[in-house]
Amino acid sequence: MAEMRVTADGSTCVTSSLCVYRLPQVFDQDAEGRVVVLDPQPPAELRRELLRARRGCPTRSIHLEGEDVPPEVPLG
Ligand code: SF4
Repeated sequence: MAEMRVTADGSTCVTSSLCVYRLPQVFDQDAEGRVVVLDPQPPAELRRELLRARRGCPTRSIHLEGEDVPPEVPLG
């Protein structure tokens, strides 16, 4: 399994905390509750959970890049 690169867009984050709850070793929130990426290249073992976190974000603010990363499902 290849590692993925993780980014998150704090400008669209609605501070739901879902990603932080799922992967506290990768995501955190700043003082205003907006997402912060703690580990932009998490271990490959977290692949499944990262894909779930991306899918679970209500505003599609989490982005994953890397080998064999399936495309994001758009909102709507
Ligand atoms: S799941 Fe999405 S909206 Fe919720 S805190 Fe994480 S990035 Fe923000």
